[in-house]
Order: sequence, then C-alpha cells, then structure tokens
Amino acid sequence: MVVISVMIEHPIEGLILFETGCGKDYPEAWGAPLNDIFARVDYTEDQELDMAIAKCGKNIKDVKMVIMGHLHLDYAGGLENFLGTDVPIYVHETELKHAFYSVATKSDLGAYLPHYMKFDLNWQAFSGDFLEIAQGINVHLAKGHTPGLCIMQVNLQDSGTCIFTTDMYHVYENFDSSHPQGWLARDHDDWVRSNQMIHMLQKRTGAKMVFGHCADTLAKYKTAPEHYT
Ligand SMILES: [Zn+2]
Repeated sequence: MVVISVMIEHPIEGLILFETGCGKDYPEAWGAPLNDIFARVDYTEDQELDMAIAKCGKNIKDVKMVIMGHLHLDYAGGLENFLGTDVPIYVHETELKHAFYSVATKSDLGAYLPHYMKFDLNWQAFSGDFLEIAQGINVHLAKGHTPGLCIMQVNLQDSGTCIFTTDMYHVYENFDSSHPQGWLARDHDDWVRSNQMIHMLQKRTGAKMVFGHCADTLAKYKTAPEHYT
C-alpha cells in the first residue's frame, strides 16, 4: 500500500496539490490504534510531503491551491501544512460537512481527525456533480467510499488524460473487477453508480488510472521528481 499526493504545475493557477498524505510524524500524532492500522513500512524521510515537493525543485510554501478528493486521515493529515495560511483548500461541500459532523459527533471519528478538521484552514467548498476547477482539471463527484468523495481528471497536452481516484478504489482490483473494498465503502448503491460513471469516463478518455493506495499501479508510472507533461 502507498499513500499518494499529486503535484501539478499549472500554467495559470501555479502550483496545485491534490491531497496531502498522512502528515508529519503521523504514527506519533495519531497514536494507537490508528498507527497500527496504518503501520509505516519502508519509510524514508524523503517521502514526507515537503521533502517530496522539494525533490521537484519546489517549496511547499509555493503551493497556491489544494484540491481534496476526500478528507480521510491518510489523505488530509498533511493539511496541517496549510493551517493559518490563505491557501484555498477545495473540497466538495458534502464531504466538508460530513467530515466536520463526523469529528464533532464522533460518529466516524478515526476516519476523520480533529488534527486537521480546523477552522483556520481556508476551506473552499464546491457543489454539484462536476466542476472544471482549473483549465484541464476536472473533479467529478463519486459518492460511495464517503458521501462527498471526488475523483480528479487531469487532461495533459502530451500525456493525455489521467484519473486520480483517491479511495473510490484502493487498488487496481477494485476497479478491474468493479468490486468495492468491503466495509470501507459507506454506501454500496452510491459506489456502484460512481463506478459506472468512472468506467465510462475512462473508456471515453483512454485515461491512465491512479488508485488511492495501489503500489503495483504506481510502480508503472513516473514519480517525483520525474513528471508528465
Ligand atoms: Zn478513505
């Protein structure tokens, strides 16, 4: 299993980040039992968000926009880097409401954490099923794993379309066999509908797929500091 964050150097918007990973020193920050579920294996310091960005010759302070597919702890922990800044954090309205509710009422505490569900982030909510968030960057609501999860579609000039599925699919088998990942799918019917939408989107665009935690898939692609244009 891997945890993925995507950096886009956009000609108009500047540096954009799609999701932020677990956050610094997360096994200590989260404590038991989460540090057991998300046990850290093959860890090197250059996997930290700021250092991975530095590998590409950029500084995390240069990030102009963050897009969140969903707000579970292993994707949103790194939002701590943007506390107290005015960097806009784009997320679907439904996901934002669900995440704050889950933390406040402890109904899904653990999946979402108070560590980063804070008021001093510059939350920017969007609504609806589809949004072209920047030129060439589209987000599609894909409910199922969570009520407000969005996948990101990036259309590149030379490399074509890439679809980043966040936890709609953990590994390629979930996509290939149209089979969700057990108890982690919060709403099965929604998941099935989203799955159909994504399969058709992939077919229409011939997109490369990047799944939420799939090490096998990621190994086939270039990773930082290599990139796609
Ligand atoms: Zn998740």
